[in-house]
Amino acid sequence: MKHGFVGTLLLVLGLCASAFASSAGPGMPADEALKLLKDGNTRYAAGQSTHPNLSSERRAETVKGGQHPFATVIGCSDSREPLELIFDQGVGDIFVIRVAGNVAGPDELASIEYGVGHLNTPVMLVLGHTSCGAVTAAVQNAKVHGNLPFLINQIKPAVAKAKSWTPTASGDDLVAKAIKANVWLTMENMFRKSAEVRELVLKGKLLVIGGIYDLHSGQVDWLGAHPDQGALIAAAPGGQHKMKPKHAPAAAAAPHAPEKAAAADQGSMVDPAPAAPAHK
Ligand SMILES: [Zn+2]
Repeated sequence: MKHGFVGTLLLVLGLCASAFASSAGPGMPADEALKLLKDGNTRYAAGQSTHPNLSSERRAETVKGGQHPFATVIGCSDSREPLELIFDQGVGDIFVIRVAGNVAGPDELASIEYGVGHLNTPVMLVLGHTSCGAVTAAVQNAKVHGNLPFLINQIKPAVAKAKSWTPTASGDDLVAKAIKANVWLTMENMFRKSAEVRELVLKGKLLVIGGIYDLHSGQVDWLGAHPDQGALIAAAPGGQHKMKPKHAPAAAAAPHAPEKAAAADQGSMVDPAPAAPAHK
């Protein structure tokens, strides 16, 4: 009984802490915001979601006080990757952009800038997922209709990048590598095309990370920061300054870091270069 009481007390305290933290997104340290995402995903994958912040009171609070999400997340539109659910978050917790293939075209970049620059979320997550149909279509060079070619073409540089890592890769292996390359590609497009994102990173106000959601396990494989983040920012227009990125990725700490650091131009997935970094 005593253990049951303590367990209940801890659960209540945890929920209170979660609710408090979720309503204090802007200004929250990035590592705390990231922990909220990680802990939420751990709960979800374990079948222990707490479904926070779904009450009528929460709706009223976020209408009256405005939204203060702690993370901006761009993910695929795939119905099996519902972003609030897989991070066990509720109303007003995360600012979500969903688009097939989690690509970052002008509309997505504008939405990202609203999340990180206007709502001031301390974390920006780019989330791909296993068995992504959009990436698979790009890998297979599938014949697509309507407006889909425009979208699929945005993913093709990631396929080229994946092939450059492992020229012999094919089938599911190539799709898996392209899914990862596509996460890096979206991050690259953010750094290349959004001065606001670059500035926030350089000021230490924004942590940009990648991940891949496993449709089967429900778990996110956290990729960390882009291995070439510092070089990409420095190479971008107006990026030649001396400010040091506070959240520059530490290659040694990144589980999926390249075998060696690559120069920005070599790391480009927008303009595939022959000497590509070995993201495996
Ligand atoms: Zn997808």
